[in-house]
This record gives sequence, structure tokens and C-alpha cells, in this order.
Amino acid sequence: MNKYAKRENNLYDPHSKEPFNISRSAIEMFVECPRCFYLDKRLGLGRPSLPGWTLNSAVDKLLKSEFDILRKNGERHALMKEYKIDAVPYNHPDLPVWQNNRSGASVIHAPTNFKITGAIDDIWLNNQTKELHIVDYKSTSIEGEVSLDGEYKESYKRQVEIYQWIFRQMGFPVSQTAYFVYVNALKNLPKFDGKLEFKSTILPYQGDDSWVEPTIFKIKECLDSEVIPAPNENCEYCAYRRFIAQELEEK
Ligand code: SF4
Repeated sequence: MNKYAKRENNLYDPHSKEPFNISRSAIEMFVECPRCFYLDKRLGLGRPSLPGWTLNSAVDKLLKSEFDILRKNGERHALMKEYKIDAVPYNHPDLPVWQNNRSGASVIHAPTNFKITGAIDDIWLNNQTKELHIVDYKSTSIEGEVSLDGEYKESYKRQVEIYQWIFRQMGFPVSQTAYFVYVNALKNLPKFDGKLEFKSTILPYQGDDSWVEPTIFKIKECLDSEVIPAPNENCEYCAYRRFIAQELEEK
């Protein structure tokens, strides 16, 4: 059965006075391809859904639980000590809302009337500067050391920069330094024994959120237009669709 259907709700209406929700992942979609973004937000033609990343979600949940234990007592995690990070998991009554994918941290961007949202993994409070560090958990299983190098890791950097921007707009003092708590499942152990073992690393990243607001203005311009943006030339999916369409036309 074909389960794909055009979406009728959560569509942008240029004449509406209601704030329009733009999530962190929607901003990422726009950065990757304004056309896919426009098809989704204006025309209701979203990308097909994918199965959830259940193993990654399980690791995220366990990491959150681990940091929550320390949060209650204002204690540093052993990894923070190892990496000489003088901070503690931030204790704030709104943290569960900020971490919830359905709500997230949010702010109204008045010039566009967009509600910009993003669900964070964690926040640490710097003991010295009293600034907040945005923290994102990442899990993987690769040979060698984890790093922030490579094209697709650029999206990780944009992710924390959007969170930094949101929390600054919310009035919090936010450090430029964000942290990735990166856990890497080891594959070279002699046997499985029903458990995965991880090597944990903290990667600091100096964020620069200066691109976020200009991008929000570009999103507004895109959504207000009646012209569908051009496809991203580097995208294999559109090339694939065009190829299929041509092949079928010739039949
Ligand atoms: S190029 Fe086409 S398939 Fe690829 S992201 Fe853009 S609209 Fe979507």
C-alpha cells in the first residue's frame, strides 16, 4: 500500500498572522536544499519518512540519564574531569522541555514571525564564567578516532550553532565553546556477550552563529515567494528522479 500522502497541515501561509514553526532540522533542510524545504513547507510534499535511529536514541537516553544523576547534585562527570572542563550539567526547571523533541527550546524571531525551535541534548554550566555550553551527544561505530572533520559533520556544527543562537535569543549567556560527547562502539572485541562497549570522547567546538539570522531571513524570502527554488545540483535523489522520468518518457 502506498502510504505517502501530501500533507495538509503545518503549511506556511504568507498571509497568516500566526508564528510559523521552523525547527532546527528545517533550517538544516533549507541549507541543504531550498527546493526540498519549499516542497515540504509550502506544498506539503515532505521527504518520505525513515525508520528511527533506535540504537543512537538508546545511547542518547542513557547518556541523558547518566548526566541527570550528576545534575541533581551539581557534580562533574568523570569525562569532564578527564578533559579538564570546569563545568557541571546545568540544572534548570525548563530543561525537560528544551530536551523534548516535540517542544524544544524556542524563540519568536519578531522580524519574520517565525518560532525557531531546537531540542538540545544537554547544557553545561561553566563554573568560572557562568556561561552555558551547548552539548550534543553523538554515537557511532568507526575504526580509529572520532573527529569533526568531513562534509557531513558540518551539519553537526550548524546544529550546535543554531542552539547557541536560540539560547542567546532567550537571554542566556552562551559560551562560544560547544561540546560533542562522542561515543564510539568498539568492533574489535573478541565477542558480543549481549553488550556494546564504547570509547567516550569529548570534542570541543568553537561555534559561530553569525550565519543563523541571515539564513532565517532567506527562509522567509523563500517561503513568501511563489517560485519553487532550483534543485541542489549535487543531490543524487533529484538526479535519480530526473533520470527515471527521462527513462519512462522514452518508453
Ligand atoms: S535536490 Fe531534489 S531531492 Fe535533493 S534535496 Fe533538493 S529537492 Fe530534495
